[in-house]
Amino acid sequence: MSPAPTSQPDTLAERLDLVRDRIARACELAGRPATEVTLVAVTKTAAPDQIRELIGLGVADLGENRVQQLQQRAAQINEWHSRQLARAEDAARPLPPKLRWHMIGHLQRNKVKPLLPLVSCIHSVDSLRLAEELDACAGKLSQDRRISVLMQVNASEEPQKYGVAVGAAVHLAEQIASMPHLQLVGLMTMAAYDATEKAARFTFSRTRELFEEMKWHRIGGSGFRHLSMGMSGDFEWAIAEGATLVRIGSHLFGGGNQQESLQDEE
Ligand SMILES: *Cc1c(COP(=O)(O)O)cnc(C)c1O
Repeated sequence: MSPAPTSQPDTLAERLDLVRDRIARACELAGRPATEVTLVAVTKTAAPDQIRELIGLGVADLGENRVQQLQQRAAQINEWHSRQLARAEDAARPLPPKLRWHMIGHLQRNKVKPLLPLVSCIHSVDSLRLAEELDACAGKLSQDRRISVLMQVNASEEPQKYGVAVGAAVHLAEQIASMPHLQLVGLMTMAAYDATEKAARFTFSRTRELFEEMKWHRIGGSGFRHLSMGMSGDFEWAIAEGATLVRIGSHLFGGGNQQESLQDEE
């Protein structure tokens, strides 16, 4: 299996259809039900109009990799979304009843507090100190809600990459899963930029093996069920290796394959 040719259709609706078809096809090839895989639309290069259009086409899961941009967009887009919901004439459109914002990029501890009220899920927990900060802030926000988090694993073992080392992953997962205000729902990983199929699949299968090992140890309980892996260039391979959340930006919005930059905004 190799990625489909990269000539992209002109409209966002067509590009979304194509991505959805490719996800469905990859699930079929892997013998998995298509309902197992959720598309997280990565909106970091999208214009606000495009985000609204995508939501109008039924996409409910939106991913950003910068806290500041997530804050701005969530404020703007959530407000628009509630207004749309209130308008009866739009009832026929596939407008999702609820939006879910995913923080997918590297997170610094001093940004946790403003971020928490806005996100449904954080994919990038990669240290004990960050997890402790999240747990403490989540506890102050609400005593009975747990924040869903995924632990990011550096399964490609690139030295410059964020993510917990493979050898430390099980222990850290255990610690995160024991925190009262966090719910560890899975693992996230990124294959190397421009990896071959073999290399990308190795990164993904290794993450899945870690995931299976953690399940065997009953880490995270029944809520531990997600593998966030696969981007525009490699999502079909990730689905073949068990991904349940695919994070796709450039195939929807154009803008080329952007890697997470190591430079943060401050
Ligand atoms: C930008 C980004 C994506 C999406 O990448 P595309 O190649 O544009 O699909 C996925 N995950 C993370 C962490 C990102 O920063």
